[in-house]
Amino acid sequence: MLNIVLFGPPGAGKGTQSAKLIEKYGLVHLSTGDIFRANIKGGTELGNLAKSYIDKGQLVPDEVTIGMLESEVNKVPEAKGFIFDGFPRTQQQAIALDTLLEQKGTAISMMLALEVEEEELRKRLLIRGKDSGRPDDQNPEVIQNRINVYNNETMPVKDFYTAQGKYKGINGLGEIEAIFNDLCNAIGETAQ
Ligand code: ADP
Repeated sequence: MLNIVLFGPPGAGKGTQSAKLIEKYGLVHLSTGDIFRANIKGGTELGNLAKSYIDKGQLVPDEVTIGMLESEVNKVPEAKGFIFDGFPRTQQQAIALDTLLEQKGTAISMMLALEVEEEELRKRLLIRGKDSGRPDDQNPEVIQNRINVYNNETMPVKDFYTAQGKYKGINGLGEIEAIFNDLCNAIGETAQ
Protein backbone atom coordinates (compact mmCIF):
# COMPACT_ATOMS: atom_id res chain seq x y z
CA MET A 1 0.00 0.00 0.00
CA LEU A 2 1.03 3.58 -0.60
CA ASN A 3 0.02 5.59 2.46
CA ILE A 4 0.96 9.25 2.40
CA VAL A 5 0.69 11.86 5.12
CA LEU A 6 0.34 15.20 3.34
CA PHE A 7 1.55 17.74 5.85
CA GLY A 8 1.79 21.50 6.01
CA PRO A 9 0.34 24.60 7.62
CA PRO A 10 -3.19 25.89 6.90
CA GLY A 11 -3.24 27.25 3.36
CA ALA A 12 -0.18 25.31 2.20
CA GLY A 13 -2.11 23.69 -0.66
CA LYS A 14 -2.79 20.24 0.79
CA GLY A 15 -6.33 20.02 -0.59
CA THR A 16 -5.31 21.13 -4.10
CA GLN A 17 -2.43 18.69 -4.31
CA SER A 18 -4.42 15.84 -2.73
CA ALA A 19 -6.99 16.04 -5.52
CA LYS A 20 -4.22 15.62 -8.10
CA LEU A 21 -2.43 12.86 -6.21
CA ILE A 22 -5.51 10.68 -5.68
CA GLU A 23 -6.24 10.84 -9.39
CA LYS A 24 -2.72 9.84 -10.39
CA TYR A 25 -2.14 7.11 -7.77
CA GLY A 26 -5.69 5.83 -7.16
CA LEU A 27 -5.58 6.56 -3.44
CA VAL A 28 -8.40 7.25 -1.02
CA HIS A 29 -8.34 10.87 0.20
CA LEU A 30 -9.14 11.38 3.88
CA SER A 31 -9.23 15.05 4.86
CA THR A 32 -10.25 15.47 8.47
CA GLY A 33 -11.17 19.12 7.79
CA ASP A 34 -13.48 18.08 4.91
CA ILE A 35 -15.08 15.36 7.04
CA PHE A 36 -15.71 17.79 9.88
CA ARG A 37 -17.20 20.33 7.47
CA ALA A 38 -19.50 17.68 5.94
CA ASN A 39 -20.68 16.85 9.47
CA ILE A 40 -21.24 20.52 10.27
CA LYS A 41 -23.30 20.87 7.09
CA GLY A 42 -25.30 17.76 7.96
CA GLY A 43 -25.95 19.04 11.50
CA THR A 44 -24.63 15.85 13.12
CA GLU A 45 -23.61 15.64 16.76
CA LEU A 46 -19.97 15.32 15.67
CA GLY A 47 -20.39 18.39 13.46
CA ASN A 48 -21.80 20.50 16.27
CA LEU A 49 -18.96 19.51 18.55
CA ALA A 50 -16.30 20.12 15.89
CA LYS A 51 -17.75 23.52 14.98
CA SER A 52 -17.17 24.87 18.47
CA TYR A 53 -13.42 24.29 18.04
CA ILE A 54 -13.04 25.02 14.33
CA ASP A 55 -14.68 28.44 14.58
CA LYS A 56 -12.04 29.47 17.12
CA GLY A 57 -9.15 28.02 15.14
CA GLN A 58 -8.49 25.35 17.77
CA LEU A 59 -7.93 21.64 17.25
CA VAL A 60 -10.84 19.26 17.73
CA PRO A 61 -9.90 16.99 20.69
CA ASP A 62 -7.73 13.98 19.83
CA GLU A 63 -10.12 11.27 21.01
CA VAL A 64 -12.89 12.64 18.76
CA THR A 65 -10.64 13.10 15.73
CA ILE A 66 -8.89 9.75 16.10
CA GLY A 67 -12.19 7.86 16.50
CA MET A 68 -13.58 9.53 13.40
CA LEU A 69 -10.45 8.85 11.32
CA GLU A 70 -10.40 5.18 12.34
CA SER A 71 -13.99 4.68 11.30
CA GLU A 72 -13.31 6.37 7.93
CA VAL A 73 -10.31 4.08 7.29
CA ASN A 74 -12.39 1.03 8.22
CA LYS A 75 -15.08 2.02 5.70
CA VAL A 76 -12.72 1.32 2.75
CA PRO A 77 -11.08 -2.08 3.31
CA GLU A 78 -10.38 -2.38 -0.43
CA ALA A 79 -8.26 0.83 -0.54
CA LYS A 80 -4.95 0.61 -2.42
CA GLY A 81 -3.64 3.31 -0.15
CA PHE A 82 -4.54 6.57 1.54
CA ILE A 83 -3.66 10.22 1.51
CA PHE A 84 -4.09 11.59 5.01
CA ASP A 85 -4.69 15.32 4.64
CA GLY A 86 -4.82 17.38 7.84
CA PHE A 87 -4.15 14.28 9.95
CA PRO A 88 -2.18 13.61 12.10
CA ARG A 89 -1.96 17.06 13.67
CA THR A 90 -0.66 15.97 17.09
CA GLN A 91 1.82 13.33 18.31
CA GLN A 92 -1.08 11.42 19.86
CA GLN A 93 -2.79 11.25 16.48
CA ALA A 94 0.44 10.11 14.80
CA ILE A 95 0.87 7.28 17.31
CA ALA A 96 -2.78 6.24 16.89
CA LEU A 97 -2.39 6.20 13.10
CA ASP A 98 0.72 4.01 13.29
CA THR A 99 -1.14 1.57 15.55
CA LEU A 100 -4.19 1.46 13.28
CA LEU A 101 -2.14 0.81 10.15
CA GLU A 102 0.00 -1.78 11.90
CA GLN A 103 -3.17 -3.69 12.81
CA LYS A 104 -3.96 -3.74 9.11
CA GLY A 105 -0.50 -5.01 8.23
CA THR A 106 0.59 -1.76 6.63
CA ALA A 107 2.32 1.52 7.55
CA ILE A 108 2.83 5.13 6.52
CA SER A 109 5.08 5.17 3.46
CA MET A 110 6.15 8.81 3.77
CA MET A 111 5.28 12.27 5.02
CA LEU A 112 5.28 14.88 2.26
CA ALA A 113 5.43 18.33 3.82
CA LEU A 114 4.47 21.44 1.85
CA GLU A 115 6.62 24.30 3.11
CA VAL A 116 5.20 27.83 2.85
CA GLU A 117 6.13 30.88 4.88
CA GLU A 118 3.61 32.50 7.24
CA GLU A 119 3.07 35.78 5.41
CA GLU A 120 2.07 33.91 2.26
CA LEU A 121 -0.29 31.66 4.27
CA ARG A 122 -2.12 34.64 5.77
CA LYS A 123 -2.60 36.09 2.27
CA ARG A 124 -3.81 32.82 0.75
CA LEU A 125 -6.28 32.08 3.53
CA LEU A 126 -7.90 35.51 3.37
CA ILE A 127 -8.27 35.17 -0.41
CA ARG A 128 -9.74 31.66 0.00
CA GLY A 129 -12.15 33.00 2.63
CA LYS A 130 -13.69 35.35 0.08
CA ASP A 131 -15.18 32.51 -1.97
CA SER A 132 -14.88 29.35 0.11
CA GLY A 133 -17.53 30.45 2.58
CA ARG A 134 -15.35 28.96 5.34
CA PRO A 135 -15.81 31.16 8.42
CA ASP A 136 -12.37 30.13 9.73
CA ASP A 137 -10.79 31.68 6.60
CA GLN A 138 -12.51 35.05 7.02
CA ASN A 139 -11.24 36.24 10.37
CA PRO A 140 -7.57 37.31 10.70
CA GLU A 141 -7.51 36.39 14.41
CA VAL A 142 -8.78 32.88 13.75
CA ILE A 143 -6.25 32.50 10.93
CA GLN A 144 -3.42 33.60 13.23
CA ASN A 145 -4.63 31.19 15.90
CA ARG A 146 -4.56 28.30 13.39
CA ILE A 147 -1.01 29.21 12.39
CA ASN A 148 0.02 29.37 16.07
CA VAL A 149 -1.62 26.02 16.80
CA TYR A 150 0.23 24.57 13.82
CA ASN A 151 3.58 25.91 15.08
CA ASN A 152 3.03 24.78 18.68
CA GLU A 153 1.05 21.54 18.45
CA THR A 154 1.43 20.19 14.93
CA MET A 155 5.11 20.85 14.13
CA PRO A 156 6.27 18.04 16.49
CA VAL A 157 4.58 15.57 14.13
CA LYS A 158 7.36 16.40 11.66
CA ASP A 159 9.95 15.12 14.18
CA PHE A 160 7.90 11.96 14.66
CA TYR A 161 8.22 11.02 10.97
CA THR A 162 11.77 12.36 10.66
CA ALA A 163 12.78 9.89 13.38
CA GLN A 164 11.29 7.13 11.20
CA GLY A 165 13.21 8.40 8.14
CA LYS A 166 9.92 9.22 6.38
CA TYR A 167 9.97 13.01 6.20
CA LYS A 168 10.27 14.79 2.84
CA GLY A 169 10.01 18.59 2.59
CA ILE A 170 8.63 20.09 -0.62
CA ASN A 171 8.66 23.80 -1.51
CA GLY A 172 4.99 24.83 -1.55
CA LEU A 173 5.59 28.15 -3.34
CA GLY A 174 5.19 28.35 -7.10
CA GLU A 175 2.99 26.89 -9.81
CA ILE A 176 0.53 24.15 -8.81
CA GLU A 177 1.86 21.87 -11.58
CA ALA A 178 5.50 22.38 -10.56
CA ILE A 179 4.72 21.54 -6.93
CA PHE A 180 2.75 18.48 -8.06
CA ASN A 181 5.74 17.38 -10.10
CA ASP A 182 8.02 17.69 -7.05
CA LEU A 183 5.56 15.62 -5.00
CA CYS A 184 5.42 12.91 -7.67
CA ASN A 185 9.22 12.80 -7.83
CA ALA A 186 9.40 12.42 -4.05
CA ILE A 187 6.86 9.57 -4.20
CA GLY A 188 8.76 7.94 -7.04
CA GLU A 189 12.02 7.95 -5.07
CA THR A 190 10.44 6.16 -2.13
CA ALA A 191 7.61 4.00 -3.42
CA GLN A 192 8.31 0.82 -5.41
P1 ADP B 1 -6.56 24.06 7.16
O1 ADP B 1 -5.45 23.09 6.90
O2 ADP B 1 -6.75 25.07 6.11
O3 ADP B 1 -6.51 24.67 8.54
P2 ADP B 1 -8.48 21.88 7.49
O4 ADP B 1 -9.64 21.77 6.59
O5 ADP B 1 -7.43 20.84 7.42
O6 ADP B 1 -7.92 23.31 7.14
O7 ADP B 1 -8.94 21.98 9.03
C1 ADP B 1 -9.91 22.89 9.45
C2 ADP B 1 -10.09 22.79 10.96
O8 ADP B 1 -10.59 21.48 11.30
C3 ADP B 1 -8.81 22.94 11.80
O9 ADP B 1 -8.51 24.29 12.07
C4 ADP B 1 -9.21 22.17 13.08
O10 ADP B 1 -10.03 22.94 13.91
C5 ADP B 1 -10.04 21.02 12.54
N1 ADP B 1 -9.21 19.83 12.27
C6 ADP B 1 -8.91 19.31 11.06
N2 ADP B 1 -8.11 18.23 11.18
C7 ADP B 1 -7.89 18.06 12.50
C8 ADP B 1 -7.12 17.14 13.28
N3 ADP B 1 -6.40 16.18 12.69
N4 ADP B 1 -7.12 17.27 14.63
C9 ADP B 1 -7.83 18.24 15.21
N5 ADP B 1 -8.55 19.14 14.56
C10 ADP B 1 -8.60 19.08 13.21
